[in-house]
Amino acid sequence: MKLILFGPPGAGKGTQARRLQETHGIVQLSTGDMLRAEVDSGSELGLQAKEIMEAGQLVPDDLIIAMISDRIDQEDCKDGFILDGFPRTKPQAEALGAMLAEKGLDIDHVIEIKVDDDAMVKRITGRFSCDGCGAGYHDEFQKPKKDGVCDQCGGTEFTRRADDNAETVSVRLQAYHEQTSPIFSYYKEKGLMEEVDGMAEIDAVTEQMNALLG
Ligand code: AMP
Repeated sequence: MKLILFGPPGAGKGTQARRLQETHGIVQLSTGDMLRAEVDSGSELGLQAKEIMEAGQLVPDDLIIAMISDRIDQEDCKDGFILDGFPRTKPQAEALGAMLAEKGLDIDHVIEIKVDDDAMVKRITGRFSCDGCGAGYHDEFQKPKKDGVCDQCGGTEFTRRADDNAETVSVRLQAYHEQTSPIFSYYKEKGLMEEVDGMAEIDAVTEQMNALLG
């Protein structure tokens, strides 16, 4: 199964994608995670992306498209994948279509996680994740059961993203509405667009998603 998840920053794409990865055995491809790994490794791509990401803007399409095309060719993607954070612009959506056609693949589902923008700033500014397994937490809405210890893997090191601050969040939300939302008509025309209520509890969102995926 090949799936695209849409939603503004804070909508829960990463959380839901990790759950689908476990239940459906398909790999989560987060372009944000891939770029953060490039930044941490100090690669050429990471150096190009760092400042753009810290400002909340979008990394140039050609860099992202090349990165995702290489990733899809890897062995672990052969049973399917969840695209989380890609495509984010019309040229990326068109390049994805062409790239998949060339590889003889197709997208099965496109799901938008619908949320209220106002709630996203609060969600994003309080979030952090486990360095060991990537499990996501929140200062207010989802604290680890034991303070400072990951519920999933017992890890004790956590990270907050450099771009999860109030100023950058508003630029990221604006980028989503101006550059990403216009792609929906492209997928609507293909009859692929579906949506879930992302303001519901995390488990309820997963249930809605599973109902769509069958
Ligand atoms: P995310 O983790 O999806 O919120 O992405 C974090 C940041 O990485 C974004 O604010 C962008 O700067 C960059 N980024 C991630 N995915 C893309 C993409 N598909 N196109 C352009 N920039 C991206």
